[in-house]
Amino acid sequence: MAIRTIRVDEDPILRKVSKSVKKFDNSLHELLTDMADTMYEADGVGLAAPQVGVLKRIYIIDIGEGLVEFINPEIIEADGEQIGDEGCLSIPRKYGQVKRPFTVKVRAQDRNGDFFEIIGEELFARAMCHEGDHLEGKVFIDMVEGDIFEEVLEEIEHENPEMPIDAAQQLATEITSDITNEITNENGETHEEK
Ligand code: ZN
Repeated sequence: MAIRTIRVDEDPILRKVSKSVKKFDNSLHELLTDMADTMYEADGVGLAAPQVGVLKRIYIIDIGEGLVEFINPEIIEADGEQIGDEGCLSIPRKYGQVKRPFTVKVRAQDRNGDFFEIIGEELFARAMCHEGDHLEGKVFIDMVEGDIFEEVLEEIEHENPEMPIDAAQQLATEITSDITNEITNENGETHEEK
C-alpha cells in the first residue's frame, strides 16, 4: 500500500493532456493500487492519474458501489442534463455548480487490457465526465456556472477554528444549497408575478 501525493491547485501537471496506456503490466497494476489507496485515504469518489503526477489516460471511480478502473476511457454516448455541486481532490476546499450529461456511456479497458462498456447515471456519469476532463488537462473550476464557493467555507473556518474540516465542509454545503434554493424561489416568484 502506497499513498501518492495529490497534485493541487496551480500544479502545471493538472493542465497537461495525458497519453494512452500501451502496456498492461505490473507497473500499471501498482499504479492502480496506489491510486485506489490514495483516493480512499482522501475520501474521494474518483481519481485520475495526472492528479498523482502520472500523465496517463487512467482514472478510477468508487461512488460507494465498488471500485471501477478505467484505462484509455472514451465517452461514446452522452444524454440528458444535470446540474449539481462538484469538488475535486486537486482543488481543495472549492466547489461550484457544473452542468453535466445525466447519462454517460464510456468504453474503456480494464487493468488487463480487455475492453468493456459501462453506462452511468447521475453521480456516476458526473464522475466519469469529471475524471475524463482531468485526462485532457481540464479541471471542474473551468466549467463552474455561477460562483465558486470557497469564501463560505473560509468564513466558517474563521469563525469556528475548532470545527473539524469535514463538519465545516458539510455546513458550507448546506449554506450553499440554501442560497441556491433561495435563488430558485425568487426566480419562481418573479415568474408567477408576470
Ligand atoms: Zn478532480
